[in-house]
Amino acid sequence: MAVTTKYVFVTGGVTSSLGKGIIAASLAKLLQAQGYRTTIQKLDPYINVDPGTLNPYEHGECYVTDDGAETDLDLGHYERFLNVPTSQANNVTTGRIYQSVIEKERRGEFLGKTVQVIPHITDEIKHRIQILGKSGDYDIVITEIGGTVGDIESLPYIEAVRQLKWELGEENAIVVHLTLVPYLSAAGELKTKPTQHSVKTLMESGVQADVLVCRTEHQLSDGLRTKLARFCNVKKEAVIQSIDASTIYDVPNMMLDEGLDSVVLERLGLESSKPNLERWNEFLTRHKNPNNEVTIGLIGKYVELQDSYKSILEAFIHAGAANEVKVKVESIHSEHLDKSNVVSKLSHLNGVLVAPGFGERGIEGKIDAIKYVREQNIPFLGICLGMQMAVIEYARNILGLEDANSTEMNESTSHPVIDLMESQKAVTDKGGTMRLGAWDCDIIADSISSEVYGMSSIQERHRHRYEFNNDYKQQIEAAGMKATGFNPETNLVEIIELPDHQWFVGVQYHPEYKSTVANPHPLFVAFVKAALNHKEQQESVTMAQN
Ligand code: GLN
Repeated sequence: MAVTTKYVFVTGGVTSSLGKGIIAASLAKLLQAQGYRTTIQKLDPYINVDPGTLNPYEHGECYVTDDGAETDLDLGHYERFLNVPTSQANNVTTGRIYQSVIEKERRGEFLGKTVQVIPHITDEIKHRIQILGKSGDYDIVITEIGGTVGDIESLPYIEAVRQLKWELGEENAIVVHLTLVPYLSAAGELKTKPTQHSVKTLMESGVQADVLVCRTEHQLSDGLRTKLARFCNVKKEAVIQSIDASTIYDVPNMMLDEGLDSVVLERLGLESSKPNLERWNEFLTRHKNPNNEVTIGLIGKYVELQDSYKSILEAFIHAGAANEVKVKVESIHSEHLDKSNVVSKLSHLNGVLVAPGFGERGIEGKIDAIKYVREQNIPFLGICLGMQMAVIEYARNILGLEDANSTEMNESTSHPVIDLMESQKAVTDKGGTMRLGAWDCDIIADSISSEVYGMSSIQERHRHRYEFNNDYKQQIEAAGMKATGFNPETNLVEIIELPDHQWFVGVQYHPEYKSTVANPHPLFVAFVKAALNHKEQQESVTMAQN
């Protein structure tokens, strides 16, 4: 076992979107499966302090950790692969780095010195990289550096890596460089030049890549590997092929076949052994051999961009495997839904999930969809805004409170069934000020949720400002909708259900953030199961009719 913490830096070259996060997570999985306590960190070169204020169209979903950090979606991959929670320390942006340095300057901590990128910004980066390593909780810290080598905004990070490699020593800090080997169909050839250039750009900053991971659409020949090794100053066995995979969950095994883990461990002076991937491979077998299929509608306003709902889509993969069914997710744009088309757009679905979100755009479509699935007894899961819309739909159509709404959408509604949380009323800043992170929730007995979770007290992650308005609780419950989960301290409603429906659950929190390969989220597992039951019922009705 490692004595000092070892650091692996993952950089990217040639282009973005090569899948650095998945390579980092796959390597971490292989190291974890050999007994090394491993964590992954993401450094993002943009100036936002965190991605919490970013529109999902920018970088996709904002992922939330137990300790309430709003982070890059790659942290979701890290948790899903490793089944170990991440924290505030696992995601750092340039904005955060500058903020700390400027705060120190204002406190006078630099004692009259000129504050500069080198050494002050780079020192702060190095400090942030080593926080996880110095905690004593990890043998290996993998640090993924966002962006592409050569970007102006990445330079301080590359410089920090250069310094750390020097300070920590060759055996304690290595660089895995992910690059693209494009295929030119006109020439019928894979081309190494972009990789050579990108390795050279890295060297101009004084950093030699130790391992090359080459994204490619075709197999790398032996000759091509030799060429890459020769021109890029790496050993031939350190040229790793990363060919396109049908699922991201295949990548750890592909990296194992290529020997990425053993090359990395050898460079770090650590022993390698056969990784224990038994549970991982059991999941893959179930994922790849479904006995049935269900179609679930995902209703949201960012559906054009798959990354906006990354954790939800992955949670369906985990839950599908647990049920041995393939979950086909049909994305439905809430702005294109209304009363006139809900039947044609939703009637074939086996279940409907209404997604989280902010602001008014598309909410009436969500409400029309919820009315339809409620009346048609189609299994429903509402997450955060989706849960709030279910309450509004119920208040409008069952209680007859016609203009019931959330004060987020209509401040002057006469029935604010969803209202700003008391703790939010004095808040004016947008960044990092929501109700964030893990909160306790007590579940009442004899409910869908108590059966799903099999326990009466849970913790789930939140990211919202508005809540179920308890002034309407009695009226709503008297009509039939039940509040079945509460925060024990504040009494905030965290879960609502319809007992007369076959499966109708709305949650104020985000269960998708906690679903992992090793621990598929119980709510998603139960929802997929309900969708399967619904499908079977529909099929038996059709058979009886024929
Ligand atoms: N906009 C809603 C709120 O702030 C819901 C947030 C969400 O769906 N994450 O309460």
